[in-house]
Amino acid sequence: MNPQISNLHGHRFSPSTGVLITGASRGIGAALARAFAAAGATVGINYHKGAAEAQAVLESILEEGGQAVLLPADVAQAQGHDSLLDAFEAATGCAVHVLINNAAIECRQPLLEVSESSLDLTLNINLRGPFLLAQAVAKRMIAGKIHGRIINVSSTHAERAKPHSITYSISKAGLNMMTKGMALELGAHGITANTLVPGAIRTDLNREVLSDLEYERGVVAKIPLGRIAETGELIEATLFLAGEGGAYVTGSSLTVDGGLAL
Ligand code: NAD
Repeated sequence: MNPQISNLHGHRFSPSTGVLITGASRGIGAALARAFAAAGATVGINYHKGAAEAQAVLESILEEGGQAVLLPADVAQAQGHDSLLDAFEAATGCAVHVLINNAAIECRQPLLEVSESSLDLTLNINLRGPFLLAQAVAKRMIAGKIHGRIINVSSTHAERAKPHSITYSISKAGLNMMTKGMALELGAHGITANTLVPGAIRTDLNREVLSDLEYERGVVAKIPLGRIAETGELIEATLFLAGEGGAYVTGSSLTVDGGLAL
């Protein structure tokens, strides 16, 4: 057992457990940031745009007595990854024990209208950035003999094509294989890599499409549990992958989708 990722009474993580969450200014990332801080970890709230939202997440964590810092950075810019990790370590005194590659964008465009720039942007933020950030984190985990956790937030659309979302789907399919490859090569260092696979979760990412009630009814009709989920419903699964109970889980994907992928 890694002493730095241990269950404490009332807290699942010790304050020396550093958890870096990309895209944590809102949506799923923000919910996870609050949850990990409430569970006792020290959280890095990465964001690119939305400084005011990120500040609000930080303040809500601090008000609850949690530990967190803001880490503005564009995850697509790999040359900034080491500075991001240095900033986290300097501000918290913690190394990253858990990386949650959560930041992503979805450019909704029909295949024939996808531009090279939108393809590049989506792959850079959703796949290339997470790959290089996880690689940089893994190097530090190995150097620090940390049996860390890498959690990549994928999507049911990694395996189920949907119209006008091809760049998003292929980025998430890549993330799934990236996770398996990382699990394979990092296992010898005691580091796990897994995907968290949300189904339809109500966030700003899909607010616009879900405001079309007919579209929403169509989505709900495909979900055996018959409803769209809230961000909080991903918390327990993620805490599990990062915590003691997930120590022997690697290369796996944990789907939280109400049965959407069936
Ligand atoms: P969201 O759009 O609400 O939040 C995305 C976050 O990523 C924001 O904080 C945004 O500022 C940040 N971000 C975007 N580009 C960035 C960059 N270049 N660098 C750093 N941060 C950046 O989305 P969400 O719904 O909370 O989604 C979070 C994750 O869950 C994503 O990986 C998404 O693909 C996945 N997901 C969401 C759903 C859903 O239904 N909402 C379903 C499946 C998977």
